[in-house]
Amino acid sequence: MSTGDTFKVVICGDFAVGKTTFVRSFLDEDQVLLEGYKPTMGVDIGRKKFKLDEKVLTFQIWDLSGQQSFKSIRPQFYSRTDGVILVFDITRQQSFSNLSLWLEEIFNKTNRIPIVLVGNKLDLISTTDDIVSFQDAEEYANHISSLTGIDTPYIQVSAITRQNNMDPFISLGKLLIEK
Ligand code: GDP
Repeated sequence: MSTGDTFKVVICGDFAVGKTTFVRSFLDEDQVLLEGYKPTMGVDIGRKKFKLDEKVLTFQIWDLSGQQSFKSIRPQFYSRTDGVILVFDITRQQSFSNLSLWLEEIFNKTNRIPIVLVGNKLDLISTTDDIVSFQDAEEYANHISSLTGIDTPYIQVSAITRQNNMDPFISLGKLLIEK
């Protein structure tokens, strides 16, 4: 449920894929109205207003801890979620394989909501051969779309260099406005 143009967005993905770095890079962008970013038990909550197609959206961003120790308390954080950004590390295949576990958790706790798939650490793409290919990830995004009935974009980013780092939020914002 959303109040006006305020949306609750949950960031999911394995430990160390770069979720916190990614969210902070979004919250720290210029012209941001940053209203607070407070660490709590297993979740960080940030808030940001931004303009999209002449509309002002407020994202309340919940950055879930991917640590196993928080798994049991995590499900309660999905309540009233409007959209999900699902993050994996393109240099760590395991974080890609584990997406199915995240989807299971998300589908258990939410209704049909937009999901954006993000492959992080794009800056490391040339440092290893063992990367998750764009094609494989895009196919997985299509698989998610077929499950939700809503388009799931796949976007590669670097939270460190900030390459494409705004795009997932913009894509999700568009999906949420359209919904
Ligand atoms: P989280 O557990 O998913 O929140 O991951 P963190 O944001 O804590 O990041 C885990 C590690 O990956 C940290 O050492 C980050 O500096 C690093 N990291 C995060 N994003 C990137 C990225 O885009 N590129 C590179 N090279 N390192 C990153």
